[in-house]
Order: sequence, then C-alpha cells, then structure tokens
Amino acid sequence: MSFDPNFAAKMGALILELRQVGVTDAKVLSTIERTPRDMFLPKPFKPRAFENVALPIGHHQTVSQPGVVGLMTQELELTERHKVLEIGTGSGYQAIILAQLCRRLYTIERHPELLKLAQMRFDCMKLTNITAIAGDGAGGWPEQAPFERILVAAAAADVPPVLFNQLAVGGIMVVPVGLDEEDQRLVKVTRTADGAETRDLGPTRFVPLVDSLVSTSR
Ligand code: SAH
Repeated sequence: MSFDPNFAAKMGALILELRQVGVTDAKVLSTIERTPRDMFLPKPFKPRAFENVALPIGHHQTVSQPGVVGLMTQELELTERHKVLEIGTGSGYQAIILAQLCRRLYTIERHPELLKLAQMRFDCMKLTNITAIAGDGAGGWPEQAPFERILVAAAAADVPPVLFNQLAVGGIMVVPVGLDEEDQRLVKVTRTADGAETRDLGPTRFVPLVDSLVSTSR
C-alpha cells in the first residue's frame, strides 16, 4: 500500500508519461498503476517514487525508470502460463510487476541485503508465485530451466549464452547489452527452432551484470 497521500494524482501523471514513451499495453499499464513504487525505495527517495526516473536503492544499485520497467515487461509478451526468470532482483519492483502477469517468477540477486528487503516486500504484497534467491545470476537457474521468458536487469557484454540456453524454444529474453554505460542497447531475443531472432529496442542505461566467471581468474 502506498503511503503517499497524492498517490492517485501522481500515478495518473506517471501513466500518461509512460504512454508517451511507448508503454501502451493495457495489462502492463494497469499493473504499474496498482503497484505503489514508493514501497520499494529508501525513505529519502519515496517522494520521487512516481517520477519516471531511476532511483538509488543502496549498494550502488538503482531501481529502473518505470518507463523502462514498462517497456521491458511489454516486450516480454507475458501470459499467465509463463515461467519467468529475472536476473537482478534489486528492490523487487520489476519482480512484482512481472509476478502479477505470469504463472511463476524465479528471481536472483547477488546482494543478500537487497534480496532480504525485496522478499519482505513480496510477503507484504502477499505474492506467493515468486521464488527469490541470493546468488550469482550469471549462471541462470539450471534446475528450473527452461524458462518461457527471461528478463536481465543488468547490462551484459553480449546476449549471455548461458541464459539463452535456458530459454525455451519460442521463448523471449530482454537484456541490456553493452558494457559502456553511455552506449548500451536494449535487445529482445526470441529463441527459434534453429537459432535466434534479435531486435534492437533502442538505447538504455543499466548497472553492469557482474559475471564471476569473467571477473575472477577462474
Ligand atoms: N530489477 C531491479 C533493478 C535492479 S538493478 C529493480 O526493479 O529494482 C540491477 C541488479 O542486478 C542489482 O541489484 C545488482 O546487484 C544485480 N546484479 C548484478 N549482477 C548480478 C548477478 N550476476 N547476479 C545477480 N544479480 C546481479
């Protein structure tokens, strides 16, 4: 529940802005509309929860702009039959939006403290179709694969092959690609019977996906 007395007015303005940036799917918009983003933010940033901006959530991480959350969710073309994987739970905001539109969401966060807070929010919102763990999401979640949908909430050097291999045939992955923060693209990959179809969704800006296989000497 939102604690902002002007929730309805602020949310109305945000929804209008989201439409202008291309979030037009009615189900995605109504899910954003009933999800109080202020619940996912540290106290100093709560008053800005309904602006279309990324905001700090601690540990040098940010919750994405509602416009980006909306676009990524829309491009996943979710139905209530889908099993979905999210890499980078962060505040849990994107996860809550996804979970309301799919059958089951698996989500992985490398900062245990962030995961703990996100889990409290899932419990508070009584969402029981989310399985969240602390760990390295670069390896995906092989025990639960394949997934019909994968959302990567941190930027990778390229479409991660490990995650692509955990995508069902016909499945969709949305992932920010590019390690230079000034030059990242949001990419939509559909797994086909014999390969992949890739579509560029435009410029974006995400924190890097920490890949322990690359960043250690292992
Ligand atoms: N979806 C989040 C935004 C997350 S920001 C939200 O709605 O708030 C990206 C998150 O990815 C950060 O919390 C960061 O800690 C996490 N992350 C980065 N690399 C990761 C990895 N290899 N495994 C799991 N989480 C990772």
